[in-house]
Amino acid sequence: MPDDNQGSPELELIDIYERPDKIYTRSFTGYFRNLRMLGGGFLFLLFFGTAWVNLGGQQAVLFDLPARKFHIFGATFWPQDFILLSWLLIIAAFALFAITVFAGRVWCGYTCPQSVFTWVFMWAEKVTEGDRNKRMKGDKGSISVDLFMRKLAKHGIWTAVSLATAITFVGYFTPIRELVPDIFSWDIGSWSLFWIGFFALATYGNAGFLREMVCLHMCPYARFQSVMFDNNTLVVAYDHNRGESRGPRKKSVDPKEKGLGDCIDCSVCVQVCPTGIDIRNGLQYSCITCAACIDACDTIMDKMGYEKGLIRYTTENELNGTKTHLVRPRMVGYAAALVIMFGMFFYSLETRSSFELDILRDRNQLYRTNANGDIENVYTLKLVNKDETPHQMTVQVSGIEGLKANSAMTFTVGSGEVASHIVRLALPAGADTKGNKEIEFTISAEDESLPETTTSSRFITPIK
Ligand code: SF4
Ligand code: SF4
Repeated sequence: MPDDNQGSPELELIDIYERPDKIYTRSFTGYFRNLRMLGGGFLFLLFFGTAWVNLGGQQAVLFDLPARKFHIFGATFWPQDFILLSWLLIIAAFALFAITVFAGRVWCGYTCPQSVFTWVFMWAEKVTEGDRNKRMKGDKGSISVDLFMRKLAKHGIWTAVSLATAITFVGYFTPIRELVPDIFSWDIGSWSLFWIGFFALATYGNAGFLREMVCLHMCPYARFQSVMFDNNTLVVAYDHNRGESRGPRKKSVDPKEKGLGDCIDCSVCVQVCPTGIDIRNGLQYSCITCAACIDACDTIMDKMGYEKGLIRYTTENELNGTKTHLVRPRMVGYAAALVIMFGMFFYSLETRSSFELDILRDRNQLYRTNANGDIENVYTLKLVNKDETPHQMTVQVSGIEGLKANSAMTFTVGSGEVASHIVRLALPAGADTKGNKEIEFTISAEDESLPETTTSSRFITPIK
């Protein structure tokens, strides 16, 4: 095939199907690595610890799907409370947008589970196989017994972390204090076993092998986050004006005399990057804002006796010599919307009823005439007790004078129970009501521990 670009030295042909080289990340210490470890450690503790916390004899967080009940820190949520979950998801998405406008992909670098688990797996790689150069050398040469044992140890740690993650995750859906003994006594249900295997494989594959591929090609957030950036968004960037022209030099040499900038072209910032990019080429969507390159470059700057911050958190405006506005109308708008949404969420949570009443009219028969000649309507009352204690409930009906109940109007509804009760209401034959009229059912707890709930329905009589 003829090369149309012959004679155009600036154009570089890129094979988009070319298999990318394996990334061997160099480990580095520094302020931002400590921050990442703190964030990751906190999230790990939250994820692995919460599953084991009990509140009032109940697992603190348990999504009990067979019983259709979600226990979250002492509160029980039902499918009827789905609106609250929707609010929570909308708030989380909105908070993520707000953070992205403020500080770019900072979520990706510090708190995204994909990144946190990848950092842990990379740590396992380092303690077993050694740092970057040793790993590269090991992978190039033939495998020795020592290297085989080291790789075995690495996969052992990866497997242990993956299994612990999967068991904990499944433990949020099956009580973990029953699940773990069941695993050890090999008395585990087939579905639990399937999901443990699935999530263990997903963790092992994503954090062990796919790594940056997930961030670059699979994560939807990576696709749309760039449209939220503006010139005031904090990003990790290389100070081109200060760094160029780049080039190696001895510490004793004055760069200005040689016409050099502060970048010594050591490529350490590229070696530490988990997505394998060179931040000196400008802002790229592959950058997850982990700041590993900042730590690396700051160390080099220290060694050279230069000022830190050649690579730093900054904004496009600052790099272009313009004033940065961190507080701007867009940010204020996001903050205001978040405050309103949080307010509405907590209001809905606070005013959430512990008891629900649904009324279904008998659809087969609009009305019937009983043995006494009274006009009778039949209703099915669906009562949902979301409370942690059983309640004796009484139903009262109003709306039509002379309406009486021909069935029991007091029932006990157990904790977490969804109960159905048939109620027959009758109106004496001579009563002055024709057609259909609205009536109200009011349900209240005998111990007055719940607020009254009122629901309306209709009472139908013959049209004469
Ligand atoms: S680490 Fe700093 S000095 Fe070294 S190549 Fe990167 S930007 Fe230049
Ligand atoms: S360029 Fe720097 S901040 Fe961006 S992903 Fe690479 S190391 Fe992290």
